Amino acid sequence: MAALTEFDLIDRYFRRPSPSAILGVGDDAAIIAPAAGCDLAVSVDMLVEGRHFSAGVDPRSLGHKALAVNLSDMAAMGATPRWALLAGALPEANPAWIEAFAGGFFALADEYRVELIGGDTTRGPLNLSVTILGEVPHACGLRRSGARTGALAHQQGTIELSAEELASCLRALMWPQPRVRLGLRLRQLASAAIDISDGLVGDLAHILQSSAVGAEIALASLPRSQAARRLLAGDGRAVALQCMLAGGDDYELCFTSAAVHDRSIAAAALELGVAVCRVGTIVDGDALVVRDESGAQVALPRGFDHFA
Ligand code: ADP
Ligand code: MG
Repeated sequence: MAALTEFDLIDRYFRRPSPSAILGVGDDAAIIAPAAGCDLAVSVDMLVEGRHFSAGVDPRSLGHKALAVNLSDMAAMGATPRWALLAGALPEANPAWIEAFAGGFFALADEYRVELIGGDTTRGPLNLSVTILGEVPHACGLRRSGARTGALAHQQGTIELSAEELASCLRALMWPQPRVRLGLRLRQLASAAIDISDGLVGDLAHILQSSAVGAEIALASLPRSQAARRLLAGDGRAVALQCMLAGGDDYELCFTSAAVHDRSIAAAALELGVAVCRVGTIVDGDALVVRDESGAQVALPRGFDHFA
């Protein structure tokens, strides 16, 4: 069989109908028009081999995750994801690998009715970058800057994260479920939101800084896995604290809301089948304080920083 050219590869694996775009894959640029009354929310995220995933990772999970991390950003904005662009550097044109990658990507794209409208394909060290475009009713996007004193900080904790086995931890790591539906509901209910990619402490700190407020978090209220629960009670306490407070790659939503919305949030969580819990309170000042079971302040680990 003749070697796959760049254009064969795009045609075979990435060209899909995109009925909601004015123009999709195949021209010098795609053309789209957001729905009347909507703003466009746009974000890009990159996955680099050796940095975000290891060599030999399941290509299907990689396709899923490359899109999932972007959908998670849309969720944190309360935006409906609509269109994606995929830029990839691949070390080789391996059809089986690309087919599996595209399978993972499009399965998730289809679930959220996201259309791939363009991209760029080149040979190089494995690196995948997805740009996502979403719609949000004019001026309704959820920002990091809306947290107000007296509001409550919530974090979603999921059954995936409370699983005991390493296999299920790896599953949570490689197959994150973006909380898009919850994000849409939070548009009416939350005052600020962020998705947790670099760890709770670091990401909540972004909300606090943007909103010029502080927060008090109760360690006892943080969702945790069975393993973390065990470790927390014994020798592994420091590791468990590190994971719970600063573990990244969560892709759950951390958000704040006024107490008046508590019941509506609980109802939305129940309806969507996602676990949401209150982990603390927004307070005056700029400090993030985590208190343990006895009320003592917990020393905070650093969030993930690629350059630290
Ligand atoms: P240009 O030279 O104008 O940058 P390309 O040759 O890079 O165009 O790409 C041709 C078309 O294929 C463009 O419409 C581009 O958006 C699309 N494309 C390239 N790579 C991908 C990909 N991995 N997924 C989806 N569309 C792609
Ligand atoms: Mg190009």
